[in-house]
Amino acid sequence: MKIGRAWAVALLTLSACATGAVGPGSPHAIDYLIAIDERQPSEAQVRLTLAEAPQTLAPARDGDGEGIVDVRCADGRPAPRQGGRWQAPSGCRELLWTVRLDAIDGRGLDASLPAAAYSARHSYWIVPERDSLLRASGAAGAATVSLRLRDGRTVVQRYAFPSITQPPFYAVVGDRPATTYSADGVTLRLFGAAPDYPWMEAVHRNVLAAWARWRRDLVVGPSPARIDWVWVEPPADLEPGYNASAGAEAIISQIRLREGDRDAEAKARAVIATSAAHEGFHSLTGAAGQAWPAWVNESLANHFAIEAARSFLAPSDFQFVEQYYMSPEVRGALLAAQAAYSAGDGGQAQLFYVHGARFWREIEAVLATAPNRSGRLARLIRASGNFSGVDLNDAGALARFLDRHSAGRAGPIVRCYLEGSGCAS
Ligand SMILES: [Zn+2]
Repeated sequence: MKIGRAWAVALLTLSACATGAVGPGSPHAIDYLIAIDERQPSEAQVRLTLAEAPQTLAPARDGDGEGIVDVRCADGRPAPRQGGRWQAPSGCRELLWTVRLDAIDGRGLDASLPAAAYSARHSYWIVPERDSLLRASGAAGAATVSLRLRDGRTVVQRYAFPSITQPPFYAVVGDRPATTYSADGVTLRLFGAAPDYPWMEAVHRNVLAAWARWRRDLVVGPSPARIDWVWVEPPADLEPGYNASAGAEAIISQIRLREGDRDAEAKARAVIATSAAHEGFHSLTGAAGQAWPAWVNESLANHFAIEAARSFLAPSDFQFVEQYYMSPEVRGALLAAQAAYSAGDGGQAQLFYVHGARFWREIEAVLATAPNRSGRLARLIRASGNFSGVDLNDAGALARFLDRHSAGRAGPIVRCYLEGSGCAS
């Protein structure tokens, strides 16, 4: 995520977080195989296998398809491009194409909305759905990324592939991390060049510790035991600030400090510690295939990230978390914001990060359930199977559910935050 324009004087601007969260789908109805060969780093070969022959294919997630070339059926028949779509040859259920990847060494990449790209210097590849894949439908499926290394070994990673109503897919692959840390069953591999500050290692380790706690206490279903964190160079024209997004089992980030700001390092510590934890929350919870609406996905990620930062940062640093993520001025009805967000207004995400996280802090305070080591809410999420069976876009349904676990105290909080009604003055 980024931090919002409203806080242009601050370090961050918000945009919707991309995550590689996944859906239950039918794993073999839609199957992508993305093959990369280190000896030809600037392209990826994609094979899409479908249960039913499509008529046309279109770039995923409003991508422009500019980097996608040579689309054809596996039997060799070409798929001609007409306008923004490709016509699939009749009866073809297996389609192939090539993706051109940008070389980013010395040029940088926007970490909040990454293009298909690679770093030869740091040996990693980034393959986002929007810039690499064609879709025949919005349905979920499976994806496999295969990386053939120069030494002859092949690294294969298999993922669930999200439906169009879930956060988008992107994969980060590489086999030569700069650093690797492990804690409590979770491994963090760092790629690229992390900012060169003496406190960076402590931040990396603390974020990893938070991920390991959440994986143990909160995640329902399969969850990655390894997350790759890639530090990419900011492009020359990028404003000072921190940008990050989450992919499938990976997060990508970058930071440029504002010159002349004597608090720049303290702000960087606060923002990296909070935001990286937030992105990893998406990777961990998304892998299980939960399909929370964006307001829940983003507000929960920020709630748990804020609490992790609270226990790690010095008060002089945590004041910046309060400034960026807990501003009392950011408030409004979450379900109205969700409706606007679903209609394309990504700016609503800021309300989810700030006001949504405040909602969960209030819920945590009234829950009557016994906590686990990550709190009462974590235990409730786990025990309920990610709020299974509760319509999270229905304030009445969520109020009834939470009232059962709070002796009736949660309902008014739900009404106030979700609908903006009955709020205590
Ligand atoms: Zn997010």
